Amino acid sequence: MSICNLCGSHSFKDFNGRALAMCVDCGSVERTRALKLILDAKGLVRAGMRVMHLAPETGIGRYLKATVGDGYESYDIDPSRYAADLDVRRMDLVTDVEGLPGEAYDLVLHSHVMEHLPCNETAVLYHLHRAIKPTGFHVFCVPIHHGYYESDLGRLTPTEREKRFFQNDHVRRFGREDIERTIGMLFPLAVTDLDQLATADELRDLGIPELAWRGISSHNFFVLGKDDLKLRP
Ligand SMILES: [Zn+2]
Repeated sequence: MSICNLCGSHSFKDFNGRALAMCVDCGSVERTRALKLILDAKGLVRAGMRVMHLAPETGIGRYLKATVGDGYESYDIDPSRYAADLDVRRMDLVTDVEGLPGEAYDLVLHSHVMEHLPCNETAVLYHLHRAIKPTGFHVFCVPIHHGYYESDLGRLTPTEREKRFFQNDHVRRFGREDIERTIGMLFPLAVTDLDQLATADELRDLGIPELAWRGISSHNFFVLGKDDLKLRP
C-alpha cells in the first residue's frame, strides 16, 4: 500500500497528469518523498543544524523544522503562499542572494526553483553554494526535459512560457542533451540512484516512478559538498 514517508498518509491523488503523485495530506510529490529518502540515507539532517530551505514543501519543511529546531529557516518571494507554521520569510533570490552570508549553513535545500528565477541562475547557484559551511551540503533538484536548455528573461506571456518552458511562470528549461554544459559546468553531474537507498517495493510504495530510480531526473537530487563547486579562483 502506498505511504507518504513524510506524514504517514495512505491517500494520494493525481497531479499534473501523473497518476497518484501527490499526497493528499501533506502535498508531497515524488521528488519530495525521494528527498526524504536521500536525507535519511545520507544522515544530512540533525538537531542543532542551520538549514536554509527555499520554496519550502510543507511535508519536508515540517520534518526539517521539527528535527533541526531553531536553525530552520525557510524563504520564498511570497511567504503568504505557505502554511503559517513554517514561518516562511521573504527573500527574492534575484536581488537578495548576493547578500547571503558565506559559510553559514549546514544545509541549503531547493527543489524546482531555478526554472522560476528571472535572472542568471548560475550566479544564484554560486551564491547558494557560497552560503554552505565547509562541512555543509547543497542539495537541489531541477526539472530536466528532453532536448536542450532554453531561457528567456523577456516579457513573455504566460501562454508563451507554458508553451516553451512547460509552466506559465517558468523562464527556462533544462535539457537532458546539454545538462553537462549548463549545471554540469558548475557541479559534478552525479546523483545517488534511488534504488541504492530503498528496495523496489519501497520505491513503489512511495509512488516514485521507475524512470526516476536511476540517474539524473526531475525527481532526483544533486547532493553537493563545498568542494564540488567547479568555479574557483
Ligand atoms: Zn504526506
